[in-house]
Amino acid sequence: MQDLQDELHLTYLFITHDLSVVKHFATDILVMYLGQMVEMAPSKTLFENPMHPYTQALLSAIPVPDPDFKMERIAMKGELTSPINPEPGCRFAKRCPYVSQVCTSREMVLIEMEPGHFVSCQMVQNP
Ligand code: SF4
Repeated sequence: MQDLQDELHLTYLFITHDLSVVKHFATDILVMYLGQMVEMAPSKTLFENPMHPYTQALLSAIPVPDPDFKMERIAMKGELTSPINPEPGCRFAKRCPYVSQVCTSREMVLIEMEPGHFVSCQMVQNP
């Protein structure tokens, strides 16, 4: 795919649940949760400094092929928000360990937290 991209000057929109696949492939990554954009950044930035709790959980689940490497996996608990009739506010709220009343009282929007790095999370936006 990368050869084709170079040869034909293509732009790919690549959708996956496995962030490790896109780490060396994508220039920019948009993370979505139940149809909501939660984080967007250049690939390197996202892997070095994930800010949204869902992105952090996704990255912690990537297997590392080193038996001596101890990575603390962030388990996502709680029930899923209905994708058919989602409740207002952050759709990750029912599974987020940092949820507060603000999270479900207003719609979250992506805000640029550092150059080119956008996050949709009240905890990140209002520390
Ligand atoms: S907005 Fe609230 S519930 Fe959603 S990810 Fe941020 S802290 Fe968690």
